[in-house]
Amino acid sequence: MDLSAGVEQLKGIGPKTAEKLRKYGIVSVRDLLYNLPKDYDTFSTPVSISAIRPGKIVVRGRIDSLKTRRARRRNLSVTEGVIHDNTGAIKVIWFNQSYRVKQFSPDKEYYFTGDYQFKNGRYSLISPAAAEVSDVDLKSGLSPIYKAHGSIKSHDFKRLILHSKDKFAQIPDLLPSVSHGTRAKALFYTHFPDSMKTVGVARNYLAYEELFELILASKLNRQENNKLKAVRIPFDSSKIKDFVASLPFQLTNAQRRAVWDIFQNIKNDVPMNRLLQGDVGSGKTMVAALAAYGVALAHNQTAILAPTAVLAAQHYNSFSDILGAYGIKVGLLTGATKHKKELKEKIRTGDIDVVIGTHALLTDDTTFSNLSLVVIDEQHRFGVEQRQKLMLKSPGWLAPHLLAMTATPIPRSLQLTVFGDLDVSILDELPSGRKPVKTLVMPETDISEKLYPKIQEIVNLPPDAKKHGAKAKGQQIYWICRAIEDGDKSISETMSVKTRATKLANAFPKLKIATLHGKMKPAEKDEIMQRFSDGEIDILVSTTVVEVGVDVPNATLIVIENADSYGLAQLHQLRGRVGRGVSDSFCYLLTAGDAKPSRRLLELEKSSDGFYLAEVDLRMRGPGEIYGVLQHGALDLRIASLSDTKLIARAQKDVTEFLRDPDNLIKYKELMEGISKYQQITTLN
Ligand code: ADP
Ligand code: MG
Repeated sequence: MDLSAGVEQLKGIGPKTAEKLRKYGIVSVRDLLYNLPKDYDTFSTPVSISAIRPGKIVVRGRIDSLKTRRARRRNLSVTEGVIHDNTGAIKVIWFNQSYRVKQFSPDKEYYFTGDYQFKNGRYSLISPAAAEVSDVDLKSGLSPIYKAHGSIKSHDFKRLILHSKDKFAQIPDLLPSVSHGTRAKALFYTHFPDSMKTVGVARNYLAYEELFELILASKLNRQENNKLKAVRIPFDSSKIKDFVASLPFQLTNAQRRAVWDIFQNIKNDVPMNRLLQGDVGSGKTMVAALAAYGVALAHNQTAILAPTAVLAAQHYNSFSDILGAYGIKVGLLTGATKHKKELKEKIRTGDIDVVIGTHALLTDDTTFSNLSLVVIDEQHRFGVEQRQKLMLKSPGWLAPHLLAMTATPIPRSLQLTVFGDLDVSILDELPSGRKPVKTLVMPETDISEKLYPKIQEIVNLPPDAKKHGAKAKGQQIYWICRAIEDGDKSISETMSVKTRATKLANAFPKLKIATLHGKMKPAEKDEIMQRFSDGEIDILVSTTVVEVGVDVPNATLIVIENADSYGLAQLHQLRGRVGRGVSDSFCYLLTAGDAKPSRRLLELEKSSDGFYLAEVDLRMRGPGEIYGVLQHGALDLRIASLSDTKLIARAQKDVTEFLRDPDNLIKYKELMEGISKYQQITTLN
């Protein structure tokens, strides 16, 4: 049987099961063999039932009298039974696992492992893992645990894999350079482990393969990019220096380096492919503005793609301020833009040098005269297709230079692999005078006593820096809620924007309180944001729609409700809404009820370093999650840990070697087929 054959060809899999598996991406026999266990149970050294003590135990026996009942608490089912060996019997209980009734047959022997505990007046074995004795490796007592896919549970996968045991031998090697072992063996031993050591070796083999593919993909992207041609933008150093000297502040050293790197890239005819990462407030926009200025000096156009209309408008204001004085024409194109036609005409003829916009930039009828630089702000907010649409707006055969910006710091290990062949500039230095945001975790129940006085204090402080035209009497506050209205989420303690706004209005009748959320029309949102930015609103109660990039330096306090329901990166990003001026800034992380604050919140309290927090996040959540934050799409690394720098280094060396012989790209067909998936996710453009 060919490994590409459908799973229904296997003994024990009918059309119904095959259909269910298909839904989870397991179509062929190969897919099934590559569906790896997520962990292992150990059933070694079982004890006789007569000798067991409370605590973690392993027993071996038969099970009967299984039945399921509803518990008095709603949504809870209790499945109970009796396990016995020839020395005695114990009660066993599972919660919400009614499928257990069908898992066991009374005439077979099983291993059980779990906690033997005193509960509801008697000792029972609580929610044990179980495996048929004949399925468990005799020597090691190890039994793989598979991720359940809907109604297909771990033990079902075990049975399916057992039916495919003889198929492993057919699996060919994927890579040339792995010196020891084979892919077939590595896969076999992850499913049929004879010791944890073998499992380790096998997983290492597979992790290496995965990293090899990922790194190869990103190197191939680089090769492809280098085949393209771009417009050369000469570096007019005296004009750039004058411009920098005229700024109201000094560029940070990190900004200088980034600007220099960019100009070095764009004077070449190979398109720049650069990622600019910097914590919130590190001054990425300024760097982009300088690049756009250089491009405009060469009579070429820049397009800046922003994820929201509010952000686009804000960029438009800063760019007009910074560049307008030098005669550079800046335009704003969003869904709400009036006179779109005229604007598009000016873009087409090159009357406008720098165009800032949202998705509206991507429409087919937006064409450019000579687009040479594309800047994508918060690049992970856009999908590959969207980014490509803009890249294709360059005239003729030329590709634009690309500067992608992100405020989510990328852990170094991820940078080496996924983004290994991008040019990266890091703004690891905040403009001088900035102070870290003072961060405090607080139970929600304490707010009227401890937080309300702080609010009063903040709104009575003189405005941070008097912005031109701003009407603020005091400093301002963001208040972030998870839900828009009550009942939006299943968690009953989730405070909604509406309820919180009402409560605050009652507590502070003199303050101007407004709400902002994703269900409002874009024009409405923009208006509220504008009013907040102008200082007409004291407290803005909002969902995370304010998360991205908004710059209101006069806002110096942010309260985040249900803080535990957000990821670390997102909390850090939200916190970055404040601390953008010269005044002291504060962030209150509220926890619902009397729940203990999570490690995440405590880390935030301790550190304001985005790169440190990104490393913590990577360790706590794994690369897949982090990657989701960074990029549209999924990095589905099944095995490799992106913190394994040794293995990464080895794979990198081998990939370089591999690429020395161009024939390899043709010879290793299966490898190349898998690569295209990785190429999609490691590309910036
Ligand atoms: P980011 O996009 O990285 O979050 P911005 O570019 O929006 O940061 O910059 C945040 C604020 O800091 C803006 O008001 C900007 O004008 C200001 N800024 C940028 N660079 C500097 C600098 N070198 N010194 C002082 N202020 C700066
Ligand atoms: Mg920004």
